[in-house]
Amino acid sequence: MNAQRNSSANAMHPLWLSLLTTLWLVTLPNWPLWRQLMALPEVQGTRGLLFMVGMGVAIWALTLILTLMLGWSRLLKPVLSLLVVSAAAGAYFMFSYGIVIDATMITNVLQTDPREAADLFNWRMVLALLLLAGLPLWVIWRTPLRKLGWRRALVSQLGGMVVCALVTVLCLMAIFQDFASIMRNHTQIRYLINPLNSLYAVASVAAQPFRRDEKTFLPIGQDAIQQRPANAQAPLIVLVVGETARMGNFGINGYERQTTPKLAQEKVISLRGVISCGTSTAASLPCMFSHLGREDFDSRKHNYENLLDVLQRAGLAVLWVDNQAGCKGLCDRVHSASTTQLKTSPWCDGSECHDEVMLDKLSDRLAQLPVEQRAKGVVLVMHQMGSHGPAYYKRTPAAFKKFTPECTSNALQECERQQVINAFDNTIVYTDHFLSQTIGWLKQQKQPSVMMYVSDHGESLGENNIYLHGLPYRVAPEEQKRVPWITWMSESYQKQQGLPLDCMRSKITQPFTHDAYFHSALGLANVKTALYQAELDLYASCRRS
Ligand SMILES: [Zn+2]
Repeated sequence: MNAQRNSSANAMHPLWLSLLTTLWLVTLPNWPLWRQLMALPEVQGTRGLLFMVGMGVAIWALTLILTLMLGWSRLLKPVLSLLVVSAAAGAYFMFSYGIVIDATMITNVLQTDPREAADLFNWRMVLALLLLAGLPLWVIWRTPLRKLGWRRALVSQLGGMVVCALVTVLCLMAIFQDFASIMRNHTQIRYLINPLNSLYAVASVAAQPFRRDEKTFLPIGQDAIQQRPANAQAPLIVLVVGETARMGNFGINGYERQTTPKLAQEKVISLRGVISCGTSTAASLPCMFSHLGREDFDSRKHNYENLLDVLQRAGLAVLWVDNQAGCKGLCDRVHSASTTQLKTSPWCDGSECHDEVMLDKLSDRLAQLPVEQRAKGVVLVMHQMGSHGPAYYKRTPAAFKKFTPECTSNALQECERQQVINAFDNTIVYTDHFLSQTIGWLKQQKQPSVMMYVSDHGESLGENNIYLHGLPYRVAPEEQKRVPWITWMSESYQKQQGLPLDCMRSKITQPFTHDAYFHSALGLANVKTALYQAELDLYASCRRS
């Protein structure tokens, strides 16, 4: 009896535990935010300090309101734990890779497969999470809480919320002038407020089905038919979908390092002015294959079929070969194969395969496609592992490690920046080899053929301390958006189509976007539909007919 009384006397008021935990969240786990704010020219001197204090108290009060709203009675400790863990994870990734957390980033996390997750795992992460989450979790669960009657609990929760709301308003009023201009000029700051950024992003991803009707799935291009030029044979069209390849790191695009010696020997056209639709695979890939351009794709109210459905509807044989984390639903209705699990192949090391594995037994794969479809032409999509980070060094076989030393850690910040760039450039050397092997294979085929290689997005390699990709589109640096677009055509294809590849030379430095992908691919396959827009077909103006 005595002991019980003692322990309840030592017990803490729930409000105190909430106050202390949220105070912790504002400090260390928000270091990426404070670091960025301190670096801004607007946030200097006494006024800058006052601004930071005002921001800090407002964030503290806002986080506390959230805790009080969700953390009723027995739920308090689980709610605090959730906040602590998401703040710790957010802080680690923001600090290590210079990323920010928004809805697209959460979508990427949800679509990550175990292998991609393993790529990010390292001991530095474990240590950071132990410090940022383990310690406060231990304190939270060790602290006995005072039991309040329901009336007192109600008064304390509601009263706390009102006080916090007042504090937030007062703080923001005090710093409003600076706050408004900084938020307007540095949009990325809002995505750094931890853990409110993660919670907001999760909520907006969860709300997506309400904004978009996910049940109906609309067909497109129902009028699609193929109309080849007279006497033109059925074409073999290879669409290589690149991964994380950034335009500026291709020797063929003027990079100071020769990362593409083999493509330099081929008659290819490499465009340098192409901007991606998104800054991550999950955002870019569906958008590239959609008939809607980037803006309409973002605000679509329904889901639609894609380029591959239209090509198949026009009668062509379509095969998607995937050496990565899957086709994000794009290949659901066409023939598909995955090469990531081929453990016996010489290109595989048991956990993943180098991209050349996709060329292995390719003719056999194509021979299995329906004969009547092949008679109209074959569209083969090869989805590369490419330059997928952060473990770039895993993407290149030993023979292609031209630039050394390579960063061999997935904790990129542990390596010198030059080592990270070396490892990335080697992935481009290997992609150069893969593309030239693909061209070599096409040259052996009897059909007229074309290869169109386009990457899904670029990559940051330490510019302004930013690594990887996936920053919100509006604030993402150019390196994450500029992608290579390389075309090769067989002589017979050029002749039969009346499309001399050389004519494309005038477009090398012109600005284009991924919006052109859908229409350019339809044009290459001679597929006619009301959806097709010639002005978005990169090759249309070079076609003599
Ligand atoms: Zn990607």
